[in-house]
Amino acid sequence: MKNLIITNGTIVTDELIHKGTIVVIGDRIIYVGDQVEGDKIKKTADTDVFEIIDAKGGYIAPGLIDVHMHGVNGAELMDANSEALRTMGRFVVQHGTVAFLPSTVTASKENTKKVSQLIADYNGGDDEAEILGIHLEGPYINEEYKGAQYGPAIRHADLKEMEELYAILGEKLRLVTLAPEVEENLHVVPWLTERGVVVSMGHTNATYEQALAGFEQGINYATHTYNGMRGLHHREPGALGAILATPHVWAELIADLIHVHPGAIKVLLNAKSIERTILVSDAVQATGLPDGKYVLGDLDIFVKDGAARLAEGNLAGSTLTLITAVKNMVEAIGVSIPDAFRMASQNPAKALGLKERGWIREGNLADIIIVSPEFEVKKTIIRGKVVYNKN
Ligand SMILES: [Zn+2]
Repeated sequence: MKNLIITNGTIVTDELIHKGTIVVIGDRIIYVGDQVEGDKIKKTADTDVFEIIDAKGGYIAPGLIDVHMHGVNGAELMDANSEALRTMGRFVVQHGTVAFLPSTVTASKENTKKVSQLIADYNGGDDEAEILGIHLEGPYINEEYKGAQYGPAIRHADLKEMEELYAILGEKLRLVTLAPEVEENLHVVPWLTERGVVVSMGHTNATYEQALAGFEQGINYATHTYNGMRGLHHREPGALGAILATPHVWAELIADLIHVHPGAIKVLLNAKSIERTILVSDAVQATGLPDGKYVLGDLDIFVKDGAARLAEGNLAGSTLTLITAVKNMVEAIGVSIPDAFRMASQNPAKALGLKERGWIREGNLADIIIVSPEFEVKKTIIRGKVVYNKN
């Protein structure tokens, strides 16, 4: 593996470094700063074995981390085979994602265990994004806000099932979405957080008080804010109001400009700040494919003009890539480039407690993407290794 010198681009850190250079030794970033002459860099790096990467005036940005993604390109986690994970890993890497959480939808106990085992056993290839673990989006949700989840399999949380899944997954059980207004669901929250699992409120009819009770138990995260949750009324602020009113709670956002109106995105950013907002794709298997009929878990979905819906019309995930979400935040919402990237890299890394990832700075793992000024991904580097190279 060659060490890397990445030059001739705008580095995206907390601010922009124009005409910047990054030096990568092994899997680490060891220098971030102004462009320096080749000899000087070599001296800094103390070795001659470099590949020089010319960013050609594009952005040199942190690799994206997608904590909510069901599938892409005709494959989804609920297919329960490793080929599906491979398809996902290969696809997202071409769109700037370096690490992700394949996400379940509500399914039988048996199927949920099966996909958990798959994630636990999976070893990705050299051309794939890293799988950090699993996001269980359900089955412990509220029927009234199930969205595109399979109703008959919705159930109350049960510690025995949690223990079985944790025994399979260990620390790869990263994120669990549940509805806290259901007493049994609320009871497993401390058990999960004690084990380092992030617990999220989602697909929920929680009132403001019930949501706060959930936060009290350790929920510190919200699944696709606005979508699949009780809305804000000024006399009953609901689950949404509780998220907006509680500073430490992380808020996911599907920024495809279909799920949430740009005005509501601005409300979210004003309430939560850039620091607590996380961009997710919530991508389904139709992502990267033309309009048509697809599936999401046990349900049929129909994609028209890029919007995925059930026959009844409910939105059913998205066909978004995370880099497009970043682009939308810049171009449609007016967020700065560093802030837009941060919501899809540093923030998800922090929410999951990942160390040394999600951020371009000296000492961190070299998860870097090179993106044209139009947000086209040209190169993806994971742990100092070029895993995608657009010719
Ligand atoms: Zn989802």
